[in-house]
Amino acid sequence: MPHQPKKEMPTSVKGMHDVLPEDFTYLERVIKEAKRVSEFYGCSQIATPHLEKTELFVRPLGDTSDVVEKQMYNLRTRGGDRLSLRPEATVSVMRAYHENGMQSLPQPVKLFSAGAFFRHENPQAGRFREFHQANIEIIGDDDAISDALVIRIFVSTLQSLGLKDIIININTLGDKQDRVVYRKELVAYYRKHIDMLCKDCKRRIKENPLRLLDCKVPGCGALKDGAPPMVDYLGEFSKKHFAEVLEYLDEISIPYFLDSHLVRGLDYYGRTIFEVFPSDADGENPPALGGGGRYDDLSEMMWGKRVPAVGSAMGVERVVDLMKKKGLKPRSDTKPKIFLIQLGPAAKKKSLILLEELRKIGVPIAQSLSKDSLRSQLNIVHKLGIPVAVILGQKEALDGTVGVRNMETGVQETLPFEKFIGTIKARLKEFS
Ligand code: AMP
Repeated sequence: MPHQPKKEMPTSVKGMHDVLPEDFTYLERVIKEAKRVSEFYGCSQIATPHLEKTELFVRPLGDTSDVVEKQMYNLRTRGGDRLSLRPEATVSVMRAYHENGMQSLPQPVKLFSAGAFFRHENPQAGRFREFHQANIEIIGDDDAISDALVIRIFVSTLQSLGLKDIIININTLGDKQDRVVYRKELVAYYRKHIDMLCKDCKRRIKENPLRLLDCKVPGCGALKDGAPPMVDYLGEFSKKHFAEVLEYLDEISIPYFLDSHLVRGLDYYGRTIFEVFPSDADGENPPALGGGGRYDDLSEMMWGKRVPAVGSAMGVERVVDLMKKKGLKPRSDTKPKIFLIQLGPAAKKKSLILLEELRKIGVPIAQSLSKDSLRSQLNIVHKLGIPVAVILGQKEALDGTVGVRNMETGVQETLPFEKFIGTIKARLKEFS
């Protein structure tokens, strides 16, 4: 027999994965909660495209930033346009704000968005090439209370998911003028230790000295402690703004750690920046649940008009991971607590009516309509751990009744169809 080459099974792309049904309930729960909390605080939802023009990201994120230099998925269309899969949300949302005339709305405009983002990073625990974020942007206002509000929404979302022990690492990068002075000081400090710097940092010292503070290479990391703290170089305006942000956080009892060497990976940030961690996180560089800050200069840089703004990005997979570690289950409103067992052709037909009546009153019900035997349907009820079975047999179909069996006690009663529909919602509350 001629040698058949082994057929390779097509698989998913490295660093990108399927979200299977069980994980989807977690993912959806986190995004829904983030949306619910943000809506309470006045955010409306927006969605921007997954593909944007590459140039939209290059300047704001920084052409020497890791994201632009190494991680963007860039492509060229047949027509020659350079496009990129979005690596983050803020710049796109600011574009949408300008493109859709949102300056004429009452300011600030508060927006929530969620979806998939793409970065060509080395896949590892909590780091993927396609991942999800839930984002808040408050655009068109300078007030320190907006900074506090963004953090409030982030923390409240985590708290309502059951994640109570959270710490915010916070810093201010000052405004543009403050940073000019600070950069000089930083360069002077690192030049004294140039031999100890890694190859990338030797480049960063010329191109983007603030990034030196973000280097994870142990030698460079050790130098960070002795570096001048940004807080010593703040002008009056930035100092006052930051003090106000911290006062608001004190007022609402959100714990924070002042990290005067904290920087963020993207260039558009100025003034308040923060990252969020579980307070019991261990290890050298624990993965952040998210972060954010002010980007007051972004609008002017790209659209020629100053529009101060502040925002946050929550890493959904990271939050899911933490929920699992803490044994928190995603409460699902749609998880059925009843299973429909149908027996015989007449019951099978009637079952479609019963299902639709339950759907209309918002009662989720599981079923396996293509199975005919009682035993195979009961097997599924047991496997799914559903507490109530509604039995529609030949007799019930003729009488206009249903049998309702409590699967835990085995007690079964027969109810007229209308009475069953009228009372089932209240009775299911017993089964939390
Ligand atoms: P960043 O603005 O880059 O700090 O991203 C905000 C948050 O998104 C991070 O704190 C993470 O929680 C999450 N995140 C960023 N990059 C990734 C990635 N490659 N995989 C999974 N989550 C990520």
